Amino acid sequence: KQLLIETKTKQYPLFLGEGIIHSLPKILRSLSFPAGTKLLIVTDQTLETLYVSQLQALLSDDYHVYTHVIPSGEGAKSFEQYYACQTAALEYGLDRHSLILAFGGGVVGDLAGFVAATYMRGIRYIQIPTTLLAHDSAVGGKVAINHPLGKNMIGAFHQPEAVVYDTAFLRSLPEKELRSGFAEVIKHALIRDRRFYEWLRQEIHTLCDLTGERLAHCIQKGIEIKASVVREDEKESGVRAHLNFGHTLGHALESELGYGTITHGDAVALGMLFAIFASERVYGRSFADHQFSAWLRTYGFPVSIPATVKLDRLLEKMKGDKKARAGMVRMVLLKDIGEVDIEALDDDTLSVLLREFAQ
Ligand code: NAD
Ligand code: ZN
Repeated sequence: KQLLIETKTKQYPLFLGEGIIHSLPKILRSLSFPAGTKLLIVTDQTLETLYVSQLQALLSDDYHVYTHVIPSGEGAKSFEQYYACQTAALEYGLDRHSLILAFGGGVVGDLAGFVAATYMRGIRYIQIPTTLLAHDSAVGGKVAINHPLGKNMIGAFHQPEAVVYDTAFLRSLPEKELRSGFAEVIKHALIRDRRFYEWLRQEIHTLCDLTGERLAHCIQKGIEIKASVVREDEKESGVRAHLNFGHTLGHALESELGYGTITHGDAVALGMLFAIFASERVYGRSFADHQFSAWLRTYGFPVSIPATVKLDRLLEKMKGDKKARAGMVRMVLLKDIGEVDIEALDDDTLSVLLREFAQ
């Protein structure tokens, strides 16, 4: 399957399918990368062990292929790894015609994309996602590393030349990573697409249902929704903020528990439950008939804030989120299934809501 991702400034193809990776040389030719181009594969240790030699073999007939490996996990979205990757690019002699291949999940995509955005004032790159979560992170052009004071605080908007998404890679994904990515699938359904949400409730009873056609459908729908939001608003001046549904609490939790302690998706799932709770209060309506908490629990998502977490600290982190403006925290709330809006909440309101939610 081929989809087209469009922004105001650029459009690029997304190739989706089982085994599509074998078409990579053809795709590179169609994108006019001549033989002899220098390619830098950026990947993490897990993927290096599993797949990198296969990827290198696929490309090395036509291209000069170099590989830079980062540690697996969120910790790699650091200034140190960013610097090491830039050093590798310089040592391999990459120039403005070279191409970076971001081969991995959201961590590799965000780091390698940010390296591409800034190496020699920006070179081209391609996203080759290997996680379910990356249906979200590989589309839209946001790339970033973390700062100890906050997640994704240093970054850029840099759209890739293409996304090549081979679902075969997802077979080796550990269950908790599949669940993590599934949280973003649910998010996409809830913010924009009631029919897709109903399909999820009917078709995906456990994570075991996330295979074959069903998995492909989740990826495609998630990408389409993400892409449509990005098409409207590439640089997050308006509706793109809707994608932050579940992320106000989610990011605060990740930061408070320590990156890597909880998966991004687990944090977002809990964040969505909090956002739904807040929506019920703010809009004076009830989503009780959807039994969101019980539903998310069937997949193994956490549904309550761990007792060890200090709510005061969580609140501070939520206020410090870069989406907060003028002393108010801007939260994405659910108006109806498939419809969200942004509401500015003052400190007191947020504090009361969080304490009640935590009980
Ligand atoms: P990840 O890249 O760390 O991958 C999760 C784990 O799975 C890692 O340990 C990795 O080594 C392993 N893995 C990856 N592919 C595998 C495979 N095919 N088989 C076996 N193991 C595999 O994390 P992620 O969940 O993909 O991405 C999370 C990151 O994405 C976060 O940093 C988040 O901020 C970012 N993100 C970015 C955007 C964006 O718009 N840029 C959107 C959402 C999330
Ligand atoms: Zn997310």
